[in-house]
Amino acid sequence: MAALGQGPVVAVDGPAGAGKSTVARRMAERLEFLYLDSGAMYRALALKALQHGVDLRDETQLSHLLGTTRIELSGAGHKTPAVLLDGENVTALLRSPEVNASVSLVAGFPLVREEMVRRQREMAGEGHVIMDGRDIGTYVLPGADLKFFLTASLEARAARRLHDLLSMGFPADLETLAEEISHRDALDSKRAVGPLRRAADAILIDTTDMEVDHVVDMMLSFYRQRVGS
Ligand code: C5P
Repeated sequence: MAALGQGPVVAVDGPAGAGKSTVARRMAERLEFLYLDSGAMYRALALKALQHGVDLRDETQLSHLLGTTRIELSGAGHKTPAVLLDGENVTALLRSPEVNASVSLVAGFPLVREEMVRRQREMAGEGHVIMDGRDIGTYVLPGADLKFFLTASLEARAARRLHDLLSMGFPADLETLAEEISHRDALDSKRAVGPLRRAADAILIDTTDMEVDHVVDMMLSFYRQRVGS
């Protein structure tokens, strides 16, 4: 179908900790596609707002800040894709507890989303892209050739985040993480613009008891069936 550009486009949505970024990154490596982490863009803006003392509840200020902010996502072939904020590599700072606690607030504002979505569509314009997020299949790239919606139980998602955070050296505990994730899911699902929602044509995969490789193989097999090799 390739409705959005010359090459195929794959959308991967789902709640926090469902495994989207891990599987989307691996799938991009296997297909030699560009991997675009839309959540990293909202995280980068939240980080800059925190660093500059911008009021996180002020939509106008946040939207002005975004207007003067460059966010670059590095592409396929990188184990951990780098995120550059105004030219500086901030990848290691994007998953801090402070950013986790503020990102959904920042992402809830229509003016912020409008500009982010414009940038996301531009980045995906050439195709050969896998983008993950919350509203990719429903709103950002509704004409995507293939859409997935990944879910997992709250317990499994919190356990994965715990593992990620501990391995990055951040202090964390399971109970607090489960609360933080379900709070973020609630904010992401209830907002008026670009809420977390499964597109009617998205393939649902519950990753609770699945190994990452199995999920990736399953997604690649859907890709070959529906889009091509
Ligand atoms: O995917 P990740 O957990 O890094 O996303 C961080 C946050 O960014 C989400 O909780 C959500 O508030 C926001 N987000 C969004 N729309 C997207 C991707 C992320 O609102 N497409």
